[in-house]
Amino acid sequence: MKSQRTFAIIKPDAVKKNATGDILNMIHTAGFRIIGMRMLEINREQAEGFYAVHAERPFFASLCEFMSSGPIVVLALEKENAIADWRKLMGATNPANAEAGTIRKKHAANIEHNAVHGSDAEDTARFELSYFFAGYELF
Ligand code: ATP
Ligand code: MG
Repeated sequence: MKSQRTFAIIKPDAVKKNATGDILNMIHTAGFRIIGMRMLEINREQAEGFYAVHAERPFFASLCEFMSSGPIVVLALEKENAIADWRKLMGATNPANAEAGTIRKKHAANIEHNAVHGSDAEDTARFELSYFFAGYELF
């Protein structure tokens, strides 16, 4: 399978508890190349734009509040089968259902404060990468 790109976020809960280094290490150990990385804070409106597909979900307001509550690390990852493999490494959305060895099992507190984000398909990966990275910022 050919090389694929996906988009990831280390969410405010994980940055706050100093799990960034461990998560980056898990990413490298799993064979991903980090081709873009930046630490930043987003405001409420920027979080709403990013999560626009979830606008009708009951947890939308709370999710956008959380995602703009502190620094995040945005990542562009590359590897064969990157989208599915990154979601596998993240583990289930609810850490109570996450498998051993996954990032959410290790670092997530609950279904909302769940440490990491990952694109779920090729079109969302393209949108999400372009939301945070210009082409010239990717290596
Ligand atoms: P992500 O999109 O962040 O990679 P995901 O694809 O596993 O996670 P989604 O269904 O896309 O899960 O939900 C997006 C995010 O919204 C979740 O990661 C979580 O932070 C939050 N979320 C999802 N379901 C709930 C819920 N029932 N209550 C509160 N927050 C939720
Ligand atoms: Mg999702």
